[in-house]
Amino acid sequence: MKILNGAALAKKIKSVLAIEIEYLMKKNGRAPKLCIVLVGDDPASASYVKSKQKSCNEIGILCDLNILPYSTSQKELLTLIETLNNDPDVDGILVQLPLPKHIDQNAILHTIDYKKDVDGLHPMNVGLLNQSDDAIIPCTPKGILSLLRAEDIPITGKHCVVIGRSNLVGKPMAQLMLRENASVTVCHSKTRDLPYLTRQGEILIIAIGHPNLVNADMLKEGAVVVDVGINNVDGKLVGDIYNSIDLTNIEKKAAAITPVPGGVGPMTIASLMENVVEIYKRRVISD
Ligand code: NAP
Repeated sequence: MKILNGAALAKKIKSVLAIEIEYLMKKNGRAPKLCIVLVGDDPASASYVKSKQKSCNEIGILCDLNILPYSTSQKELLTLIETLNNDPDVDGILVQLPLPKHIDQNAILHTIDYKKDVDGLHPMNVGLLNQSDDAIIPCTPKGILSLLRAEDIPITGKHCVVIGRSNLVGKPMAQLMLRENASVTVCHSKTRDLPYLTRQGEILIIAIGHPNLVNADMLKEGAVVVDVGINNVDGKLVGDIYNSIDLTNIEKKAAAITPVPGGVGPMTIASLMENVVEIYKRRVISD
């Protein structure tokens, strides 16, 4: 079974971007700039934001971090988003999710200028992705596609089964695979006979957030397995399937798998960096 090394590819993507950013800076007189907004002190969110900031610093993207207290009101957050929307020096805006319960997440995501929406979650970008147009594509699905392409994994005509239908991962992933000419099945918590469907997946993408739900018996022989899940089990980082109790049997059955850590996670960050640079280039051209 082949391990699909997302960490190595992400490193390569970021080093190519660093060279491009240096060139763009000389040409346009400014570096791309990402603004991250973090509300509250959730440790997981803080750690994700830290990795995003670190990657920006490594490759020459300016990164402004706005940390707001948990008590921030929706109105205050909307005012900040409007300020960032109107700031000509800001290319990308990222609001770290989840937001505190008293804030309507959609109201915030819908207020971000869709042209600065690095996460691709604004309805305009969702619609553009559905129309196979030049959408800003959500970072995790984009990173998964880049990894499959870099590994020369054929997608056209394949049956791709996606478990999970979140706006962040499952839905845009399914849409992207459809755009790549796969036949796509999307499964979720109300799916009847999940194993029957997963056994048909030549490419199986798992984005559930529950380890050990999918075992070797649920895989098609020779499947390419993409594990999006990030779970903390007894202080250890595990995927939805990678490092699960059935890993030995999974290794015998799957043709390839993304590890956790070192698979989808770093590709998500590399894709975020790509999105910031892409938005910067679009904005510089339209100036
Ligand atoms: P989410 O919003 O909680 O969505 C989980 C999805 O899994 C839902 O669609 C849910 O179905 C489905 N599901 C839950 N239990 C199921 C079951 N027993 N059978 C079938 N489907 C089931 O989570 P998410 O944001 O998509 O993230 C999923 C996982 O990926 C999490 O572990 C998250 O931490 C990880 N993640 C990793 C990265 C990365 O960069 N590596 C990025 C994003 C997310 P319903 O819709 O019916 O509830």
